[in-house]
Order: sequence, then structure tokens, then C-alpha cells
Amino acid sequence: MQVILRKVRQTPLDFEVKSNEITFKGYLQYHSGKLILLKANLSGFITKPCDACAEEFKMPIEDEIEFFISDGIYKDDNSIELDVVESFDGTVDVEELLHSEIELIKSDYHNCDSCKS
Ligand SMILES: [Zn+2]
Repeated sequence: MQVILRKVRQTPLDFEVKSNEITFKGYLQYHSGKLILLKANLSGFITKPCDACAEEFKMPIEDEIEFFISDGIYKDDNSIELDVVESFDGTVDVEELLHSEIELIKSDYHNCDSCKS
């Protein structure tokens, strides 16, 4: 799902995308300047190899995600620390965001249930 950033207004734009067993559901909303707020819930399962025994296992995911998307280069004028993803073509691909979130979770260290204790 491709969203044109300058078309995002103060009225939240709902989205829901799925990838395998993960649902990414939330909204985009105009914030200020070039910034668009993305708020979403990530839920479902991620299958990945255990970092201890290399056995594949299903990891339950339940995550609240919140960051800003900048339409172009983001300049930090007011020294507030913000989580900002820059877009250089004026659009954002929600599926792509979901995939990078999944990759981020997968790259963390996780053990399966039998290796946890
Ligand atoms: Zn294991």
C-alpha cells in the first residue's frame, strides 16, 4: 500500500496490511511541517530460528509502534528527539515499513521456549 505523503491530512488515514502471520494496523496523520505521524499495532507471530539451538520457532508479537515520516530530509529545528524515517519520493510504502519492522525484530536475539530457562 503506497501512500502519497502530502495527501495525508489531520484526519487519520487508516491502514491494515498483513505479511504471513503478522498484522500491521494503524493510521497515518499529518503532524506539522513535513512530518506525518505513524501509529500502529503489530501483532501476530514471527517464525525465526532460535539463537541458541537454531531450531525454528514461532514467536508471538504484540507491539505498539509510533514514529514520524518526513516528506524529504528532516531537519531537527527544535531539538526535540523524534523517531523519524525520511522519504525522498514523497510516498511511503506501508508494506515496506512492515517488512523492515519484522526484519528489526528478527535481528534481535531470541531464544525458543525450551532454551529460555
Ligand atoms: Zn532453542
